[in-house]
This record gives sequence, structure tokens and C-alpha cells, in this order.
Amino acid sequence: MTQPAPLQPSDADTRRNVPPVICYPNQTLPIPDLNLYARARDGAEKVAELRVAPRDAGCFRAPAGHFFRITSVEGPQVGDLNLWHADDLAERFYSGKTRALHGTHITRGQRMWSGFPYLRPMATITHDSLEWYGIDQYGGSVHDVIGTRCDPYTHNLLAGGQYHHCCHSNLTRALADETGLPLHEAERHVHDVLNVFMCTGFTRDTGQYFMKASPVRPGDCLEFFAEIDLLGALSACPGGDCSAQHSSDAAACHPLLVEVFAPAPGALDGWSSPAPSGYDRSHGRGA
Ligand SMILES: [Zn+2]
Repeated sequence: MTQPAPLQPSDADTRRNVPPVICYPNQTLPIPDLNLYARARDGAEKVAELRVAPRDAGCFRAPAGHFFRITSVEGPQVGDLNLWHADDLAERFYSGKTRALHGTHITRGQRMWSGFPYLRPMATITHDSLEWYGIDQYGGSVHDVIGTRCDPYTHNLLAGGQYHHCCHSNLTRALADETGLPLHEAERHVHDVLNVFMCTGFTRDTGQYFMKASPVRPGDCLEFFAEIDLLGALSACPGGDCSAQHSSDAAACHPLLVEVFAPAPGALDGWSSPAPSGYDRSHGRGA
């Protein structure tokens, strides 16, 4: 039996036609000095490299002022990125606030922000070879902060079974190996990701989260400037290019390359790592 259509008030269209207001006008956000970063990048030297195997994850460290680059190699592949403060796992990437500040997908000049009570830029995107993609006819775009990360719990809910190579599990194993934390403790630090190279959006008619084949090709890269000392973890999603499915071994999967670059001495003169939020945390009850 189909449900009857909901009753509409007589002024329904008038109410719908109210224009939207941007929740967080971002003209007052601190603007990163991309020219300074570009000059520093010119003289930077590669200091570390990590190759992330398909359906697995790996950790890397990028001290404040360094750059890290994620590159597609061998075939189209999306990556799920987590970031923490290198010395404090409590400070971690806040996908929801990043989305509220910048939009559903992020690109050059935009930043990955940490959660409360820190709320500061962790990393700034300095180069995006897929910047040309823009927003397609379906409302899709790349590098989203709207998805979460594929995980075995949702997979079990929707399809049953035990699948162990979702990004959530890959990130958990990588963080446990990097820190020495027991697996279940490491799992608590895994959080909603930046979906690197993933092409996603919301359907216009039902508002559902969708994915489509990523436009990424070998050689494409996304590069970041580390604003604070970072520990990163990157998973090469079992969905491959996410053209059909994830949370299984069905998709063609490829490795991802992470490279870290150190700036030349003096190249960042005048720059300083951002401080945590200036809010006093008294919450109306005295400092
Ligand atoms: Zn995934």
C-alpha cells in the first residue's frame, strides 16, 4: 500500500522559495599564504615515501611546515585519509566542520580542520591536479568530506557477513601498528575521512549519497602543506575507483603513493604554525 502524499499548506511554494543563506560565511577565515607555500615547495626535498597496498593502509608523519603528496599510481584508486596531531591523538580531523566551512568537497586553498577544542587548520591543500573537474551535471565532485569511510559494521548491517578490508579496518590496523596501541584502542581514534580522489555527491531527487567512477588517473595527485605536526593514515579503498561497489574484494584496486617533502631552511620565514582556538572553554560558567 502506498502512503498518501503529505498535505501541503496553502503557502507551501512561498515558503520553499525563500532564498538560502550561507551558514558560515567564510570571508573572515584566515587566508593561507599560498605564494609563500609555493616558494617553499619549490626548494623542498623529498624525505620520506610510503606505498599503500591495495585494500590496506599505511601511516606517515609530516612535521609542521612539510608537504605531503598523495599520488594515484598504476590505476584509478580512491584513498581515505585520517589526520591526527603527531603527539596527541585527541586532536584529529573534523570532517563535519570542514564541510560546514568550505563545502562538500575541498580543493586548492582549502583546509582540513581539527575538532574541538582545537579547531585549527591541520593541513592546507596546495595542489590538486583534479581541480579542473568542478561540479558535474549530477552534482558530483572530487575529494569529499560528506562520506564517512567504508566500514565492516555498516556492511554487516546491510549485507551481513564479515569483511575485514574496509577503510575503517585498514586505518585501524595501520594506526595500531604505528603507535603500538591494541587494535580496539586504535579503532577509537579512527574518524571520518577526507575521501581523496573519490567522486561523490547527493542525488537531487532523494538526497542520497552517491559515488561514481573517479576521474583520477595515474599521475594525478593531491598535495598538502602540514600546518601542525601530523600523523597521517591513508587507506587504499577496497572500492578501487568506486565506480560500482566497495566493502568487498570485487573491485579492481591499486596502490597509492604518499611522499613527504621538507622545505629548505629559511623558506618559511614569517610563517608560524597556527595556535589552537582562542575560545576560553568556560562555557558560560566562569574561566
Ligand atoms: Zn573505503
